[in-house]
Amino acid sequence: MWGQLREIGPAPRLVRSWLGAFVQAVDALVFPWSCAVCGAEGQAGAFCRSCREDLLDRSAQAAGSACPRCALPVGPFADLHRGCAACRGRSLGFDAAIALGPYEGSLRELCLRLKHERNAWLAPSLGGLWAEARRPAVAGLPADAWVVPVPLHWWRHWRRGYNQAEALARALARRLDLRLRRPLRRIKATEKLAELSPTERARALRGAFRARKSAGLAGRTVLLVDDVLTTGATCGAAARALKQAGAGRVVVAVLARTGKNPS
Ligand SMILES: [Zn+2]
Ligand SMILES: [Zn+2]
Repeated sequence: MWGQLREIGPAPRLVRSWLGAFVQAVDALVFPWSCAVCGAEGQAGAFCRSCREDLLDRSAQAAGSACPRCALPVGPFADLHRGCAACRGRSLGFDAAIALGPYEGSLRELCLRLKHERNAWLAPSLGGLWAEARRPAVAGLPADAWVVPVPLHWWRHWRRGYNQAEALARALARRLDLRLRRPLRRIKATEKLAELSPTERARALRGAFRARKSAGLAGRTVLLVDDVLTTGATCGAAARALKQAGAGRVVVAVLARTGKNPS
């Protein structure tokens, strides 16, 4: 339904948002929601008020103690000049990374559920939450910045029929009023990355993505969207491909960042 609304095209933003609110209200009447975190029934949206506030609170806490360069939770007193101890001096491929929160608790559960197409309905709500919690961090993006999902290899996409990064990117583009574009191709299939060490991951992903040079990326700021940032190798490889095709600045947007919080 949201996808179709997006297709309406040049309708003024106010009409689009009014139409969106109307559709959501009718939707909630016809299909009552139950909270994706605690299961409480009866609210309009994927989360009940208390779970939503809890997710936003945790996100606000995390924002105050995350590395602006790699989004690692680093504790409130860490020296973040030119990144944290984990990323300083390392070439990441991207310029900054913003996560809704650390990969733990209910956010981790939501990330795991979003991996399955049957839970794609969570994407608009998670995108909404991200936009609400992190709007100040992306307020400085130019109005012509693109939202670009990290793509799956076509074979994997065909087998799974769904890419959670794309569902999330669509939701974020709508909420942030930016354009969704897909200039990236994943030209190398990389299976079982979770079993590899960070160095092996980086090696496996080298040259895994390509961006079309004719895509209009020259000088463009890109918000590169994925669900989880682990070692940063996947987003790094995708960002390097975007920059090779001319992108000026690549900011990574993810739901969750893995890594230990030492505080
Ligand atoms: Zn709840
Ligand atoms: Zn860092």
